[in-house]
Amino acid sequence: MEKRWVATVNLQTLEVDYDPSFKFKCVDECGLCCSELEIPLRDEDIERIEGLGYNAWEFVDYEKAFYRGDKFIGYAIKKKPIDGACVFLDPETKRCRIYHHRPLACRLYPFVFIKHGENMEIHVKMDSFCPGLNHPEGRPVDRDFLLSTYRDVFEEYRRKL
Ligand code: SF4
Repeated sequence: MEKRWVATVNLQTLEVDYDPSFKFKCVDECGLCCSELEIPLRDEDIERIEGLGYNAWEFVDYEKAFYRGDKFIGYAIKKKPIDGACVFLDPETKRCRIYHHRPLACRLYPFVFIKHGENMEIHVKMDSFCPGLNHPEGRPVDRDFLLSTYRDVFEEYRRKL
């Protein structure tokens, strides 16, 4: 999968350098990423979803593990065997049943955050199935977009600096 740089956020100053040629708008009702992607779950994601009353065995696929190099990142969210969609995707409404509590990787998609010291590099996965990439009504991935969408994520990393 092709990935390209779209922005860098300085976590100390929250200054943003970005590529104005890229624009994004999530076409909410499309839900294709809920079927096409394998989503890694962090421990925090599992705990939050368990807090909603689900048991981990209902939504964690312990047979699919993610690694970065040789470091274990987490297990994947379960997919339904019948259609390959995420177990939390409502087949009728095409809506996520845990939208406000969804895993971080779902919130970030189609972006990937890579931390280098005090900088957070933002890359976008150029997945051909996502109609939001360079959407005609899309927004550039500038400071306004990033802080209105992911401020809490940046704050979490800022606390750890
Ligand atoms: S595939 Fe792209 S446009 Fe569709 S829901 Fe996912 S992020 Fe939004």
